[in-house]
Amino acid sequence: MAEDYYALLGVRRDASQDEIKRAYRRLARELHPDVNPDPETQEKFKEINQAYEVLQDTDKRQMYDVGGDPFAPAGAGAGGFGGFGTAGFPFSEFVDAVFGATGQATRGPRSRARRGRNATIRIELDLSECAFGATRELTVDTAVVCPTCSGEGTAPGTHPETCQVCSGRGEISQVRRSFLGQVVTSQPCPNCGGYGTVLPRPCPECDGDGRVRSRRTMKVRIPAGVEDGTHIQLAGEGETGPGGGPPGDLFLEVVQKPHAIFERQGDDLHCTLTVPMVAAALGATVSVESLDGPNDVDVRPGTQSGQVLPLYGLGVKHLNGTGRGDLIIHMTVETPSRLDPEQEKLLRDLAKLRGEEAPPGKFQPGQQGFFSRLRDAFNGR
Ligand SMILES: [Zn+2]
Ligand SMILES: [Zn+2]
Repeated sequence: MAEDYYALLGVRRDASQDEIKRAYRRLARELHPDVNPDPETQEKFKEINQAYEVLQDTDKRQMYDVGGDPFAPAGAGAGGFGGFGTAGFPFSEFVDAVFGATGQATRGPRSRARRGRNATIRIELDLSECAFGATRELTVDTAVVCPTCSGEGTAPGTHPETCQVCSGRGEISQVRRSFLGQVVTSQPCPNCGGYGTVLPRPCPECDGDGRVRSRRTMKVRIPAGVEDGTHIQLAGEGETGPGGGPPGDLFLEVVQKPHAIFERQGDDLHCTLTVPMVAAALGATVSVESLDGPNDVDVRPGTQSGQVLPLYGLGVKHLNGTGRGDLIIHMTVETPSRLDPEQEKLLRDLAKLRGEEAPPGKFQPGQQGFFSRLRDAFNGR
């Protein structure tokens, strides 16, 4: 027996039946699933119910006090707790018995109208649509209020009628005997499903559901700055609920298509620019494509591979804000892979002028600031 039932209820071992009952009622009010629906509390609620079931019964309490298992079926030896059902006593009945009118206020016929479900549509956008926003026409296949019955679910000229079985209460009561005396339990009425009304002639178009499927198109404005995975909520644009209930929401999930040139990181865009060796050495003006069109960019003389050149404010617009990210150009200096004799001679003359006409082996890693140049290159200097 793992639990100490007295400790669970917070009473002494010699507590009177009245004290046990009071302690239980206080705890049950606190831990009742209607008040506190989280699973941990419900587990605790079950435990105190188990404790109470034993301690409020003088026979079971006696058995428990001497170390027996009050839940074991007669003659079955070590039975253990199989949950509340082992005592042949459903949990909800027990709560009803102790609390009497527990939850009465929340019962009664339930409405046929319920809120519709939310829906999610994925929309593919290219990078510039994400950057600047877009307007899209969407075709939505969803449930709308049935035009024949206006959501009531009944055939034209008829209306829901009060259920004869439950007289419109939506539930039926049963009186049973249990060890606590008479117990009244309520169940949803099987004739009307708990609605309290029946549809004598369901609407032929929607079969009583109050809604039909329909296709409609709608224009949506997608704000600038959305990215892959952004959800845009369109309140009330989801499907209509059953019985003409309020509609759910429609969510648009953005899927950003990859771009041929730009890679997006946050609201910054990154691209590479390959510059011929001579242009990198002498400097040049190059035309660089951006989302806003071509831009003339000055490549400074002496540009190295790995250097970055930011174009401020040419990135993606910030979502729900002002301003834009940057376009960051990563430079790559291209060394010619094939030289004609004349070009080769020019380069050899250049090497001679610079004192670089060295035999192989002179350029060693680690010499002449190799690593610091590499580091500078990585840091974009
Ligand atoms: Zn209908
Ligand atoms: Zn009924």
